[in-house]
Amino acid sequence: MQNIFELEYSKVENILNNIGEKSYRIKQIYQWIFQKKITNFSQMSSLSKNLRNYLEETFTIGLPKIVTINNSVDGSQKFLLELSDKTNIEMVLIPHLNKNTLCISSQVGCARKCSFCATAQMGLIRNLTIAEIVGQVYLAQLELGDKRLTNIVFMGMGEPFDNYDNVISAVKMLQNKEMFKISPRRITLSTSGVIPGIEKLSREGIRVKLAISLNSAIPEKRKTLMPITNKYSIPELKKTLQNYSHRTHFPVTFEYVMIRNFNMGKDDIKALIKFVGDLSCKINLIPWNSLNYLSYESPSKMEITDFSEKLKRINSAVTIRKSRGNDINAACGQLAFHSINDKNSLL
Ligand code: SF4
Repeated sequence: MQNIFELEYSKVENILNNIGEKSYRIKQIYQWIFQKKITNFSQMSSLSKNLRNYLEETFTIGLPKIVTINNSVDGSQKFLLELSDKTNIEMVLIPHLNKNTLCISSQVGCARKCSFCATAQMGLIRNLTIAEIVGQVYLAQLELGDKRLTNIVFMGMGEPFDNYDNVISAVKMLQNKEMFKISPRRITLSTSGVIPGIEKLSREGIRVKLAISLNSAIPEKRKTLMPITNKYSIPELKKTLQNYSHRTHFPVTFEYVMIRNFNMGKDDIKALIKFVGDLSCKINLIPWNSLNYLSYESPSKMEITDFSEKLKRINSAVTIRKSRGNDINAACGQLAFHSINDKNSLL
């Protein structure tokens, strides 16, 4: 038996065409799943009994299990999910004005060892399957009921490009009009700078928003924050992004976690301005939220304003991401909402 969420639409279509079912039947199945939110094939009453039996014998619709939901005062909700092998991941639903954004995970843990990231402390346990990635989105849609899920960000646990194939298949399913129907402009892949992944994405012409968790344009500092810089250097990253922009004409967003007395000085601004240069991009500034088991410090309001004003002098859109309570403060899986207690529950 296969989880139907593991298969792209065209694959399910092929399987059912091979047993003589017309393509409109497949549309009907997906209408039951996505519009009526029915996950039991036997209840899909517009299908023939034979087809319902076949579906029940061939596919499952397996979803991650919700273990806990933590509600923030600002309305965000953090979900601790359990997967079939009893490992855990998290996702966060962030309502804001008329938007509902879901921050999802792509791996259980992460191998990239970024020093500011709670997920990094778990190490990599495994990649998520396609079904486990899109299952998070389906669960969130069930939770939202009549409200629409508008945006998806791959900024939860894991480096999406370290699980490239499954993430891209999931993205295709999220965009598919018969399935999740989410616009490419509303799906963001956030990476720590895995150059082969960025190159592959641009060559394959997958339409999504690309975010780079940058955090410093000074090589030694970025190496301290993000050891991936030892493998993929800052100049190589810049070159790759120039090619990406040239090929796709999509703007890039840089995520920059502001850490007091570390990456907010004159040299940092100078390096950042030089790095960004002529790239068509946005810069998202994220104030570091102190975690009591990491030694970095949060900047003051004045330091944040000062830093952002100086950056605005360059020809880029600079925004300060509002911290959502203490729950959400994420750049590329920087799950700052992993409090030490949560972390313990994940390990
Ligand atoms: S910031 Fe992203 S890439 Fe770095 S360790 Fe955390 S999850 Fe992995």
